Amino acid sequence: MPELPEVETVSRGLRIKIVGKKISLYQQFRKDLRWLIPPNIKEKIEGAIVLSIYRKGKFLLINFNVNYTLIIHLGMSGRLLVYDNSHSKKSSSQEIEMGVFHHTLLKLGKHDHVKIDFDDGSQLVFNDVRRFGAIDLSRTDRIENHKWLSKLGPEPLSNHFSSPILKDKIEQKKRFIKTAILDQNIVAGIGNIYACEALWEAKISPYKMCNNMNEQNFDDLVDALKIVLTKAINAGGSSLKDFKDTGGELGYFQNLFNVYSRENSYCKRKYCEGVVMRKKQSGRSTFFCSICQL
Ligand SMILES: [Zn+2]
Repeated sequence: MPELPEVETVSRGLRIKIVGKKISLYQQFRKDLRWLIPPNIKEKIEGAIVLSIYRKGKFLLINFNVNYTLIIHLGMSGRLLVYDNSHSKKSSSQEIEMGVFHHTLLKLGKHDHVKIDFDDGSQLVFNDVRRFGAIDLSRTDRIENHKWLSKLGPEPLSNHFSSPILKDKIEQKKRFIKTAILDQNIVAGIGNIYACEALWEAKISPYKMCNNMNEQNFDDLVDALKIVLTKAINAGGSSLKDFKDTGGELGYFQNLFNVYSRENSYCKRKYCEGVVMRKKQSGRSTFFCSICQL
């Protein structure tokens, strides 16, 4: 599932490709994804110009010059693909950016659910195999009150997220620390991958209870979250520049992972002789080292 760094990467890629463009046609080919897609999107945004694109937590926001903003959640498998017809390609091979493809759309695919045509001939397509993604439209001047966004916790890379702030929110809770940082109301944008990675980085067990965390633990965890997210965003940014072939997958920065998806491998921490374990915790796979994460 795309998390903050992947959505940030898609947001940056799209910003380069579609800001300033005018929508000539909006089409949706289903009534719903995870939830109903509002039926009035077409009438509200056709003819509008894309003013800005940004991210809030794991949500992508496309803001138009008509006081409307499209809110998109990529769910498990959602992708936003740009088909750029404005210049022809020299070869048939696809140039793939992080979740953003560039070639000519000849025919809609089975999992292409929404298509936006711009007046320069380029197209933006929302493709989602598993249909856990979601799309909604909000008035821009009321966006802060939108039900998906209004309760979101602070952005982890902003000054609104710090060790004292996190401590204040959860230090009394009898809840696993990992479950707490996955809670989007506590901090926005963290999913399973980067929760596992940050806890490893901070040497904290995912099974530690919030009310057993000391001040040092909070400091280490907040630092770790900022470090792993920044690294992943930077990796996404560099692959955007390099047109790295990601095999069509939205970019996860697997080579950076220290524990995620590494069960039974040796812990990567210097001098630690632990082996990465995988356990089910609150319905998700948790990867951790039982030797150095306490
Ligand atoms: Zn270890």
